[in-house]
Amino acid sequence: MATCPECDAPIEVDEVDADVGDEISCTECGQNLVVVNTDPLELDFATDEDDEDEDDDDDLDDEDDELDDDADDDVEDGDWDE
Ligand SMILES: [Zn+2]
Repeated sequence: MATCPECDAPIEVDEVDADVGDEISCTECGQNLVVVNTDPLELDFATDEDDEDEDDDDDLDDEDDELDDDADDDVEDGDWDE
């Protein structure tokens, strides 16, 4: 049995099947939690690391955007204020 670090509610986790990195949602407060240790069983707040992975995917798309950036540079060179 582990406890939620957010609200201290007891969370039933199958310690036999639990692995470090497993994500669990607290049934009391809905906080996303991750198993950080299995002996003893410990839960911590799930981080936003998954979102960072998604950002990496976006970087691949940036290469396609370079063509558009060139067009923007032409506009900047012709600064209307000068
Ligand atoms: Zn909770």
